[in-house]
Amino acid sequence: MDENCPHVVIIGSGLAGLAAAELLSTCKEKVRVTILEANNRVGGRIFTRRLQDNSPIELGAQWFHGKVGNPLYDIAAKSDIATRKSSYNDRFYTENETIAEQSVGDSANDYFSSILERIYDRQLDDVPEHIQNVGQFLDVELKKYLDDIQDNFARAVSAKVFRYRDREESHTSGCSTLHDVHLRDFGEYLELEGGDLAVIGGYDKVLQTIIDRIPKEVIRLNQMVVKIKSSDNNELNVECSDGNVYKADIVICTVSLGILKNQAKVLFQPNLPAKKLDVIDRLAFGVVNKVIFYYEKPFWPKNQFRRLVFLWNDEIDDKNCGCKLPLEDDELWLKHVSSAHIILPCPNALLFWFVGEDAIRVEKLSEKQLSSYLTRVLKKFIVDKTIQEPDIVIRTKWHEDPYVRGSYSYVNTNACGKDIDVLAEPILDYQGRPLILFAGEATDRSYYSTAHGAYLSGQREANRILDTLQLEKKIQS
Ligand SMILES: Cc1cc2nc3c(=O)[nH]c(=O)nc-3n(C[C@H](O)[C@H](O)[C@H](O)COP(=O)(O)OP(=O)(O)OC[C@H]3O[C@@H](n4cnc5c(N)ncnc54)[C@H](O)[C@@H]3O)c2cc1C
Repeated sequence: MDENCPHVVIIGSGLAGLAAAELLSTCKEKVRVTILEANNRVGGRIFTRRLQDNSPIELGAQWFHGKVGNPLYDIAAKSDIATRKSSYNDRFYTENETIAEQSVGDSANDYFSSILERIYDRQLDDVPEHIQNVGQFLDVELKKYLDDIQDNFARAVSAKVFRYRDREESHTSGCSTLHDVHLRDFGEYLELEGGDLAVIGGYDKVLQTIIDRIPKEVIRLNQMVVKIKSSDNNELNVECSDGNVYKADIVICTVSLGILKNQAKVLFQPNLPAKKLDVIDRLAFGVVNKVIFYYEKPFWPKNQFRRLVFLWNDEIDDKNCGCKLPLEDDELWLKHVSSAHIILPCPNALLFWFVGEDAIRVEKLSEKQLSSYLTRVLKKFIVDKTIQEPDIVIRTKWHEDPYVRGSYSYVNTNACGKDIDVLAEPILDYQGRPLILFAGEATDRSYYSTAHGAYLSGQREANRILDTLQLEKKIQS
């Protein structure tokens, strides 16, 4: 390796950092690359745990969101890593120990999806100006649907299905409530064709395929960057908590928006421009956590449903509803548990999602407590005396994680799509060349919050560097 080549230091070995290193490593004669990773493992928010039978449990990203144009799907396809389209085949349970009329539930489900499609497709010209967030818009449109239903029971079930879908959509977006999400810029996010694909072979296999394309010496673990110092004469020093200092010509910073929110003001010297600090402050970084129950002997029928849906009677303040297993005051948050997914790569496991305050609460409870609380929910809805507590409980703690501080970004009502571009803008040196670049899921205006968005953002910044070097080479010759 030519020691005189420009040295690119990448901070973070999540998909963004790895994608940048992978691409830059194809031009070894032009650049030297080092990844500094604070953690003792590679992957960031891609984190697969293998059970004894080797089935993968994903603690971070679960699905490929889309197939066409998804670079991660392409990697999996070329490497024979199995994927399968997820179907959200719902079974609706009510609190009154009954299974709700499937067709009523399905129609309400479809209607909710059609309203979301309208938002994604930005068919919002006739929406009054004062309706600013996704939650407000849904309230208005869903009321129209409910008002048209004559049958009281069907109307009640449909309203419950809407509440459940509202929660599911909040998990997907990473927000506590859809009233936080910008209505008109929700459609900035582009859905790739092909639906959600379960990574049957495990996300770790995809990660390993990428790692294998990067020379071993590039990745340095346990290197927590505490300062990125740039001087007037373009010297860049990257300082780590153990005292190591790396000299760099260009830095790509891929740490999460959660880390930037916590540390941007101390990490960079001199400080980042005010407009970048402003968008770091305003863009939202949600908290989503998972609880996974693994059963040696599952109690649900095989291959019939993908999602068990719990249709709670009323809003959170009505605790008893005359039903069995009334909730205590400190258990009312359980009413937010709206579903359990039967996950494709591991059909013996149920996956519960938590978002916002609930996600933070889940981090503070013990696995034993979670086992008991969530088993109560299952028993409340599913009339089956054989339901036992699970054999294994796995729970994530993305908010506590000192290297992430949350789960993924979204465009809230305080921000807009353009803010994402500001976050992605490079800091230039005095000659106008890129000096400190930004990649990571939150910097991709079309695919923020996703694994493929992170990967594409890393490639974007690597290409920015290669384009600059190419241009300089042309000018010199
Ligand atoms: C629960 C959950 C579910 C998800 N589900 C999906 C899904 O189904 N599909 C999907 O497409 N996406 C999903 N995502 C989102 C996806 O995982 C992320 O968008 C993507 O992995 C982010 O990659 P990144 O490289 O931008 O950031 P990260 O993966 O966060 O990488 C940043 C790296 O920087 C390191 N770092 C931080 N601070 C420092 C420092 N000071 N010095 C050195 N290193 C540092 C971190 O340790 C980390 O490794 C999910 C995420 C979560 C948390």
